[in-house]
Amino acid sequence: MNIPKTNTPRLVIIGGGFAGVSLARNLLKEKVQIVLIDRQNYHTFQPLLYQVSTASLEPDSIAYPLRKVVKKGTNTFFRMAEVSAINDTTKTIHTSIGNLTYDYLVIATGARTNFFGNKNVEQHAMRMKNLPQALNLRSFLLENLEQAVITKDPKQRKELLRFVIAGAGPTGVELAGGIAELKINVLPRDYPDMDFDEMEIHLIEGANRVLPPMSAKASKKAADFLTQLGVHIHLNTLVSDYSNNIVTTTTGNIFETATFIWAAGVTGAPVDGIQADSLIPRANRYEVNRFNQIKGYEHIFALGDIALMQTPAFPKGHPMVAQPAIQQGKHLAKNLKRLLKGKEMLPFTYFDKGSMATIGRNKAVVDLGKFKFAGFFAWFVWMFIHLWFLVGFRNRFVTFFNWSYNYINYDKAARLIVRPFKNKIDVTEKV
Ligand SMILES: Cc1cc2nc3c(=O)[nH]c(=O)nc-3n(C[C@H](O)[C@H](O)[C@H](O)COP(=O)(O)OP(=O)(O)OC[C@H]3O[C@@H](n4cnc5c(N)ncnc54)[C@H](O)[C@@H]3O)c2cc1C
Repeated sequence: MNIPKTNTPRLVIIGGGFAGVSLARNLLKEKVQIVLIDRQNYHTFQPLLYQVSTASLEPDSIAYPLRKVVKKGTNTFFRMAEVSAINDTTKTIHTSIGNLTYDYLVIATGARTNFFGNKNVEQHAMRMKNLPQALNLRSFLLENLEQAVITKDPKQRKELLRFVIAGAGPTGVELAGGIAELKINVLPRDYPDMDFDEMEIHLIEGANRVLPPMSAKASKKAADFLTQLGVHIHLNTLVSDYSNNIVTTTTGNIFETATFIWAAGVTGAPVDGIQADSLIPRANRYEVNRFNQIKGYEHIFALGDIALMQTPAFPKGHPMVAQPAIQQGKHLAKNLKRLLKGKEMLPFTYFDKGSMATIGRNKAVVDLGKFKFAGFFAWFVWMFIHLWFLVGFRNRFVTFFNWSYNYINYDKAARLIVRPFKNKIDVTEKV
């Protein structure tokens, strides 16, 4: 892998997501050699993936080069590689570009889409967990519209213009809102020869309300906003199958659609080689203590979505969102500095900064502790927070410019089929 051996300890970080980047950034100036490894050469700001799928933002405005993260350090390296296994007896990781030994290892590999064992859904549904998948969705959505405008078969047109999303968590809700905005503000001007009353957006949710992790007030407001935008919500409904362009559900409702998007769950993305009883099977996440050490290991840590830390306030572990990942990364950096100085580590405590979701122009819901609000102000807060947490000044600037342009012009400028999406079965699940 061409990493020099020095006399400082080597810290290998697998994963350049929120957790891995937060950890690396807070250790760049320390007397430790850092090797950051990711299968992609960029960090992805996943909360805005839906804006790439719905043609609001270009992919490069929500991605940040990982080499830029490590370049400020003196003994820091990035390698683009897939990590396939860990051998703690020899303290070695095995990757697609060779093996590397470590003194400390941090696993921050995040999560992948959970299909709950439904093979048809896994094979045929669209998903949106990384940038290539978000771009696939954008192309596919636009290709279907191009097909709908020329077909003479009314049944085929219906299928092409019906968009079905499984899962009304923040991802499903934001995606449904984004597609509805396209339908209302953008597509009728692009396709004056098509009747957009025929276009339908369906959101299917197993629970009895949308945005189940948020407050009841936020759920109610979000459902109102979605209904105003013409989204059909189907609660207490589970998807049982998707094949031959037909979604079947547990309530007996069926939906004929060319575009079925699965946003109904994630599961951890562990790496082979860690002993089996350190992995909590139902979640596929590593059990970690308050110092983020994986159960049974002293020098191997896990952070973010892949780590399940049970605390009195979070008996089932922290939510799989960006803040626990960022905060754990920062905290582990502090603890590693202490370890290197021979001091004891300090336990991690999560500071819950609240949650939010946007449903479209001027519409968002925010839960900030006791404060729960919705509408224009919530939307403004949502935009501000997302701009703030986007990595890199350029990304913030470009995103702000695009949002302002879209807002003033009722436009979504990135509706381009740059990389045509040909075959749904070709989608490979990686992240
Ligand atoms: C569509 C979507 C919307 C979301 N919206 C929100 C939101 O609005 N607010 C919020 O707080 N959270 C949101 N989340 C969740 C949030 O993005 C995650 O909780 C967060 O990214 C977790 O950070 P992480 O560092 O643990 O993992 P990730 O950010 O997923 O990073 C993991 C990294 O590890 C790399 N990797 C994985 N396995 C390997 C391997 N074997 N070899 C090499 N590299 C590997 C991946 O390429 C990736 O870069 C959203 C997630 C998605 C998918």
